Amino acid sequence: MSKFWSEFVHHLEPYVPGEQPKMARLVKLNTNENPYPPPPSVMQAIADATNDALRLYPDPDATALKEAIARHHGISSAQVFLGNGSDEVLAHLFMCFFRQPKPLLFPDISYSFYKVYCGLYDIDYRAVPLREDFSLALADYDANNGGIIFPNPNAPTGRLLPLADIQALLERNTETLVVVDEAYIDFGGESAIALVDRYPNLLVVQTLSKSRSLAGLRIGFAVGQAPLIEGLERIKNSFNSYPLDRLAIAAGVASFEDQAAFEDNCRRIIDSRESLVQALTQRGFSVLPSAANFVFATHAGHEGEALASALREQGVIVRHFKTPARIAPYLRISIGTEEQNEALLAALDQAL
Ligand code: PMP
Repeated sequence: MSKFWSEFVHHLEPYVPGEQPKMARLVKLNTNENPYPPPPSVMQAIADATNDALRLYPDPDATALKEAIARHHGISSAQVFLGNGSDEVLAHLFMCFFRQPKPLLFPDISYSFYKVYCGLYDIDYRAVPLREDFSLALADYDANNGGIIFPNPNAPTGRLLPLADIQALLERNTETLVVVDEAYIDFGGESAIALVDRYPNLLVVQTLSKSRSLAGLRIGFAVGQAPLIEGLERIKNSFNSYPLDRLAIAAGVASFEDQAAFEDNCRRIIDSRESLVQALTQRGFSVLPSAANFVFATHAGHEGEALASALREQGVIVRHFKTPARIAPYLRISIGTEEQNEALLAALDQAL
C-alpha cells in the first residue's frame, strides 16, 4: 500500500513547520508568534460568541469580518478574500493563478512554503537569489514569468522593501500576477494594499497570526481587485469549505475594531526589537536590519547550529536553518516579551 501512494506523491517535499513544544516552561522564540495575548476586547468578543449559536454553521462568506477588514483598509468588502490562516489563502492562490506555462518567480531565500505549493500543484518555478547582503532586488525579476511572489518584509531575513520598489515592479510587470505576502508588514512597513486600486494584477496577503496575536484562530486574508477575489472564491467554493468558524470571525472583527490595542502591541514589539538588536550587537552579533517581529543574526565566533542547541539546553528555542548553506550561520529569533528577551540574552551569555 505504501508503494501505491508513494508513486503519486514521492516528488512532494512537505513543509517542515517550526516546532510547537509541549513543555510550557520553554522560552519559545522560534515561530514568530506574538508574545502578548489578544487584548481584552478580543477575548470578550470570543466569550460573547461562545453561545447557543455554535450549533449553527458559520456564515460561509464571513461577511462581518470582510466588512471590518474593508473598513480598516479603506477598500470594499468585494476586494477581500478570507482563509484559514494566510497559508490557506496562499494555497488557494497558487492553485488559482500560478499554474502557468512560464515559471513562478520568488526569492531564494524566502518563505519555504512557496516551494511546497509548487510541488503540490506541479508549478514550474525559478528561485531568484537574494543579493549578497540578503537584500531583495526586484530589478532581478525578469519579464519572462508566470507570476511573482515575495514576502515583505522577507522571511527569514526580516528585510523590508520600500513601496516604491514594488510600484516600480508593477509598472513593468503588467501581464502576470504579483503577490506581496505581508505576514509581518505591521512591524514597520508600508502595506501594498495602498496600490491595489491602481494595479489589477496585484494581490496582497496578510494574516492575523502575528501583529494581532491570533495565530491560534487561523485567520488570513488577501486583498485585490474584485475579479481576482472572485477567482479565489470560486476555488474556495469548489471545496465547499467554511474557512472561518464563528469564534474566529468574532475575534477578527473585534481585533479590527480595537485600533488602539493593535497599535500599542506593534509599538511594544518594535521597541523590544530595537533593544534586542542593540543587545545582540553588543555581544558581537551582526544583525540584519529587520522590519518584522523577529531578527536574523549571526555571530562570527559561533556556528548557528551549535548556538541554537546551546540555547535549547537552557530552555530557549530559536529557529535555525541548516540549508541553504548561506543562512546556516544565522539564527532567526522571534521578539518575545521583555522577560523572554532577558532570558534569551542570559542564555546567550552562558553559551558565548
Ligand atoms: N507568510 C509568511 C512569510 C510567513 O512567515 C507565515 C508564517 N509562518 C505565513 C505566511 C503563514 O501564516 P499564517 O498561516 O499563520 O497566517
